[in-house]
Amino acid sequence: MAHYPGTRKGSLAGVEMGFFVRAVSRRNIFAIVVGALLAGVPLIGFNFWLENLIDRQGEAEVGTSGRRAIALAEARVKDAVGALDGLAARGVDSCDPAHIEAMRYAAFITIPVKEIAVVGPDAETLCTHLGLPLGERTMLSSELLVGAAGYWFDIIKLATGEHMVRLRRQVGASPNAVAALVPTTLFLPQVSTRGGPFSGYARITTRQGTVIGEVGGRPREDVGPNFVADTKSDMFGFDVEIVNSRTRIAAEHADLKWFGFFAAGVIMMFVTGLIVLLPQRSPRNPVAEIEKAIEAGEFVPYYQPIVDISTGKLRGAEVLVRWRKPDGTLVLPGAFIPLMESSDLIHDLTRHLMQKVCIEAGPAIGRRLDLKISFNFAGKLFSEPTIVKDVRDIFANSPIRFSQVVLEVTERDPIENFTETRQIIAALQGLGVRIAIDDVGTGHSGLSYMLKLGVDIIKIDKMFVDAIGTDRNSTTIVETLVDLARNMRMDVVAEGVENFEQVMHLRTLGVRLAQGYVFAPPLPGSSFLQLVEAIDPLQPATTDSTASSGERLKVSA
Ligand code: C2E
Ligand code: CA
Ligand code: CA
Repeated sequence: MAHYPGTRKGSLAGVEMGFFVRAVSRRNIFAIVVGALLAGVPLIGFNFWLENLIDRQGEAEVGTSGRRAIALAEARVKDAVGALDGLAARGVDSCDPAHIEAMRYAAFITIPVKEIAVVGPDAETLCTHLGLPLGERTMLSSELLVGAAGYWFDIIKLATGEHMVRLRRQVGASPNAVAALVPTTLFLPQVSTRGGPFSGYARITTRQGTVIGEVGGRPREDVGPNFVADTKSDMFGFDVEIVNSRTRIAAEHADLKWFGFFAAGVIMMFVTGLIVLLPQRSPRNPVAEIEKAIEAGEFVPYYQPIVDISTGKLRGAEVLVRWRKPDGTLVLPGAFIPLMESSDLIHDLTRHLMQKVCIEAGPAIGRRLDLKISFNFAGKLFSEPTIVKDVRDIFANSPIRFSQVVLEVTERDPIENFTETRQIIAALQGLGVRIAIDDVGTGHSGLSYMLKLGVDIIKIDKMFVDAIGTDRNSTTIVETLVDLARNMRMDVVAEGVENFEQVMHLRTLGVRLAQGYVFAPPLPGSSFLQLVEAIDPLQPATTDSTASSGERLKVSA
């Protein structure tokens, strides 16, 4: 396999970038899917846990509220009963100042009680601990209280509209009774189990079903599920119903829900970012990718002008392939040629390039017969039986003549079957094509061995060109090569010429043809054709197509 000094490193980076760019869009989708899956699983788990938590908390809350309400109601009744029993024991059953004084004291020390009164046989208020009764009052209901013998449990409506629970008991054989008023609101829960204001619906009823009081709006059943708790008072027969809507409880956990989404989002972004940013070590299947790229016409010829340094005229170009990716990245050959040479792809690529050059530059080159066009031919192509036919078929139908075609075989590639290679070279030369040895001086086969192949041109590697003038040995090697070429009637082309000093040295050494950045880098087809047209504009109609290529190349271009 060939090595390409000076180009390999940068080009490899190029192809890695290229593969990376193409892979990124697919990887992005993959990363998002994996990220979503990895974040989705904990999110589903978290949501499941949260729904469960809401259910458990909802049920616990209504249950606890119910039990608390019962305990509260029982405590209120017991307080009032305690006060009334005390008064009855002292025989308080009239509006005497002494009795009123006793009632006042009892009212003062019994927290939930707002009023203590003496009532007549028809349950009408005779007097209260404050003196006269405060306004009209209506008895809405009355029933015997279980759990406290001799007690009546009345619901009273005051003139203000307020409802009161009235507990009432006879005092011995007296026709009068003592009664205590407790606001119904004190029978209902005021705070939620978690400390905030009570947010649900609560209703407390007597044993017989009379509503003592209600708080909150009853959540509708058709809107969504509700938590319901029905709790009974064993002591006094009260019944408390607590209802809370599940939506309301869930709303109280909204912050947790958002936390879940936030955490899942963070996981997803983390996983996605990790996958996208992790450097992809190796492309999936570069061979298949190159195969597709050849079919898609992504490999394009670039043309590096070859110049006659004794006259400055343009003498032709070397075709150097570039991989122009759909995203605009340009990949240099060092990154993919070795892989292609190790497979059969190099054959397809070379054929494809020759065809493309025929179409793109064929007319311009065919009309200027002193221009030559060189193609790089990997060593293994010379053991390909169809290669001679391929070259013949391609150029026979093209404006480019066989005599204008140069095939460069590199000295770096070991020749596997010398006889066969020699025969193929001879067959190609039979068509009129010329053969060049590339990278002369850098291979291991040895020049004399290579020359036995019967080649027409030798290309001196950039390594020697760089050393001329500074390194005596290199200068001698170039001199020797030029002499050898002259004797064997071969042409010499110097490669990688980068400055005028080198041009001068090469001229002194008798080298006529050169290519390099000092004249032009490899150019895309359109630029190369413009250059050809500018240097050697074709005369209209009568022009003899064999005329020389006119103007000198502006080497400083
Ligand atoms: P090569 O045939 O020796 O081509 C000359 C290389 O030197 C080219 O690199 C060219 O761009 C570069 N070059 C030209 N002038 C200068 C200069 O003044 N200074 C420097 N530093 N470099 C210069 P590129 O295009 O990267 O090609 C690298 C190698 O890839 C070529 O070396 C050739 O062996 C191979 N290659 C290119 N195209 C093809 C092809 O179509 N088929 C085959 N089999 N190999 C190819
Ligand atoms: Ca070459
Ligand atoms: Ca070369």
